[in-house]
This record gives sequence, structure tokens and C-alpha cells, in this order.
Amino acid sequence: MQKILHISTECYPAAKAGGMGDVVGALPIYLPQFDVEASVILPKYAGKWFAQKKFKTLQKGSFQLGDENIKYQIQILENEDLGYPFYCVDIPGKFDRESIYLAPDGHGYPDEAERNIAFQTAICEWLSKGKQHFDGLHCHDHMTGLMTFFVKYCPAYKKLADTPTFFTIHNGQYRGILDWEKMDLFPDFDRKFDGMLDWDGSINSLATAIKCAWQVNTVSPAYMEELSENFDTLTPLIQQEKAKTSGILNGIDSELWNPATDKYLNQHLEKNNWTAFKSHHKNDLLKRYGLKSRRPLVGFIGRMAAQKGADVLAAAIEKSLKNNLAVSFVILGSGDKAIEENITRLAKKYPKSLAAIIAYDEGLSRHIYAACDFLIMPSRFEPCGLNQLYSMRYGTVPVVSAVGGLIDTVPDISVGGNGIAFPQAETQYVTQAIERCVDLYKNKKKFIALRDKITVLDYSWNQSAKVYSDLYSKFLTNDKS
Ligand code: ADP
Repeated sequence: MQKILHISTECYPAAKAGGMGDVVGALPIYLPQFDVEASVILPKYAGKWFAQKKFKTLQKGSFQLGDENIKYQIQILENEDLGYPFYCVDIPGKFDRESIYLAPDGHGYPDEAERNIAFQTAICEWLSKGKQHFDGLHCHDHMTGLMTFFVKYCPAYKKLADTPTFFTIHNGQYRGILDWEKMDLFPDFDRKFDGMLDWDGSINSLATAIKCAWQVNTVSPAYMEELSENFDTLTPLIQQEKAKTSGILNGIDSELWNPATDKYLNQHLEKNNWTAFKSHHKNDLLKRYGLKSRRPLVGFIGRMAAQKGADVLAAAIEKSLKNNLAVSFVILGSGDKAIEENITRLAKKYPKSLAAIIAYDEGLSRHIYAACDFLIMPSRFEPCGLNQLYSMRYGTVPVVSAVGGLIDTVPDISVGGNGIAFPQAETQYVTQAIERCVDLYKNKKKFIALRDKITVLDYSWNQSAKVYSDLYSKFLTNDKS
């Protein structure tokens, strides 16, 4: 078995802020069937999950982070069957906070750089000084991107220099850009390689990983194409490193996301009776929020961010409701305050047609996937998107902008596809897409046929886990190919 260590700041159920948490929590479960033993290492946060678990300390140590002496412990989760070994790095003062990324004021932690550098340095210390060996290191997003540089250019970690590194871009928008003075926080490295850290004149953790990792992938083929064609300042770098890049579509954990067993739902899918399942949850949700019935229910779940097109959605909802379109909406999300306020204002104006829940709520999200007729994703860009996959698994028709992973997973019904696709996140297109939902919903035969089609699609990790295992094999010594 090849041993791979996934290095990440999120992993469901330990800590999740978005899709990366789902991916890191699920992919390792599906890899052993392809001869890969995947482990995960995370920072030890102060959340409920960590507080309830028992950990055994494997290594204690310390290192310098600039002037600060950092004490850390590497721990392993005991007596728990996540399906893979789970390690964490305990760094008191840095990660023992409730939220993964956000301070109570809703902004990112001001010491984000220190936290990320400390996390990655502690792992390098452990791997280079401890007994534990991994055949490959798999880093996720910019928060762990500097690891690919540290193992290559820090003399203290020479032992790791030949270990293949794999880097997955879950979201290329976030880059981990640091002032050059932050270099003083890094473990000692050969300064003639500081150019590897640079992109656009600053230290760029994402770009560093694209340069240093042995392999780089995005979480869908279409997103890699977009990055390499005409995305932004990252495009020339992606083009330069093209030979080692690929796009691997995310899967879903179809056990965890199973309408027949989902522990968050008060009624399960039985004997494939989708009509009973959907109408139970829809009625439940309409009642809970006092929404009008006998009309399609359109949901949105996600970060209230420009990326997700939540601002455009608000405008399209307002237009649709102003025009008395017979449709109800349920929106779950949080993020940008201006978008949150706009959606809350609309919910107050149209209380019987729009419910807005400004929160992060895993249980409610499952209820929404189960209850809605349609799930809308007007993303401006979408590295993969998992919501459309969960929605199909729960019998909900996805309505998406044709970008990134949404292109790969939701072709329009007019070309024999799985949902409603519209060109881009603009109010007119989103409004038209909502009108198409209403029309499709009226055509019961077509609507039910589409639902029957999407509920049997297999977007589980089985296929993509094989692609990852093939990728690992190419670089690991006991090559299977
Ligand atoms: P992201 O870009 O945020 O990672 P993805 O589509 O890849 O987007 O994954 C989003 C994941 O986060 C899904 O599991 C979705 O259900 C979940 N999610 C997003 N917002 C919320 C929320 N407010 N409450 C509960 N779950 C949420």
C-alpha cells in the first residue's frame, strides 16, 4: 500500500467551512480499494468535535517562528473509525479557536500567516525527525502550499526532499499572499531559491505550490482549462507548469450523503418512493418558514460571496417576485454583510415567498437539499461545486451558471443534460433560469423524468479516487503502472 498524507485545514466531520472539508473527509475513505492508505492531518481546533474526541500524543517539539518559540504536539485520534488515520497538530494559542478562519468580527484572523506557517513547519519537523513515513504528501489550497517549498529547500528537512508532493487547488481565488518580511517566520531555507516564493512581487503561497509541487490539479477539468486560458495573473504560471497539471473532478461521499440513511433527516427515502420523500420534506420546510405551497421551491446554499453570485441571485429573486412569478425560495448562507442584509430585507418584504437563513447549518442544508424542487448556483466561477452533486443525489434539479465544474456536471436539459444551465451570473440570465424552473415544474411528466434521471447518476468518489491513485502511482517508488 502506498501511504499518502493529506495536509489540510479542513476535513469533515472534524472541521468544515466548505467543499474542501468534504473532499478531504471523503477521498481517503475511497482510496484503499486502489492500494492507497491515505491519512489526514489537520490543525487541532477548539471546536466541539475535537473536544469530544480522545487523542494520543505521538511527538512533542518546538521550533522558532521568528522571535516566537512555538511548542507543538502531533497527536493521533484514538478509538474512532473515520475510515482512515487522523492526525492533528496542537499548537496552543494558534489554533485552539472555535472558528477555522474567521475572527468574531467576521474578518479573517489577523495572524493567518503565522498560523499557516506554524502548522506547516510543525508537520515538517515531525516528518523529518519522527519515525512516521509517508510515500507522498498531498497539500490542499494555499494554506498548506508552502509545505511544498519547505520540503524542497529547507536543509533541516532534507530527508523529505525526495518525497513527491501533490497539490490540489480547491479555489484559486485565495492565494495566501504575504509580505516579504514574513519570510523571517519560515524555517531556514536556501535563500537562492526565494524566487520560487514570488508571484506578482509578493510571497504567494498558491503560486509557490504550483511551482514546487510535483503534480498540481484542480477539482474539475473545466476549471483547469479556465485557469490556463484567460483567468487572471495566475494564467501565465499555469501555462508555464502545464505539463504537470490536470483537472480531477470531485466526487461525493455517497454513504454520508444518502437520502435513505441521512442522520439529519426526519424521514428517509423508502423503496425509492421519491414522490413521498420529496413532498414530505417540502411540506415540512414550507410549514417551518410559512412559505406558499403549490409552486416550485428553489433553494440556495452557500457562501454569500461574489464568487457564488449571491448578489445577482438577490436581484433576480426581487425581479421574479415583483413580477408575481409563482415560485418560493429558501436561502441558507452567510458571508458578505451587504449581500446578507439585502437578502434579509427581501425576505421581510416577501415573507411568504422567500425564507432567508443567515447561518452555517449542516442539518438545515440537508433538509433544503431534500425539500427543494430546484437548487440554484449562479456562480461567477466554480472550481467544482459540490452542491449540484448533493442536490441530484437528493432528487433536486440543479440550476447552474455554465462555469468550471458546473459545466462538467450539469449540461442543460435541452442537450439531454441533468438540469438548467445558463450562460453566466447576470441578473437577466438568472431571472430567465428561474422562469424556466417554473415552466419545467408545470410540465410534471418532464420534471419527474428529469428527477428520475438525476437520482441514479453516480457521482461517488469511486471513479475519481482511481484517478488520484493513478496519479500517485506515477511518482511513487513501488510504481504499479
Ligand atoms: P465552496 O466554494 O464553499 O467550498 P462547494 O460547493 O465546493 O463550495 O461546497 C460547499 C459545501 O459547503 C457543501 O457541502 C454545502 O452544503 C456546504 N455549505 C455551504 N454553505 C453552507 C451553509 N450556510 N450551511 C451549511 N452548509 C453549507
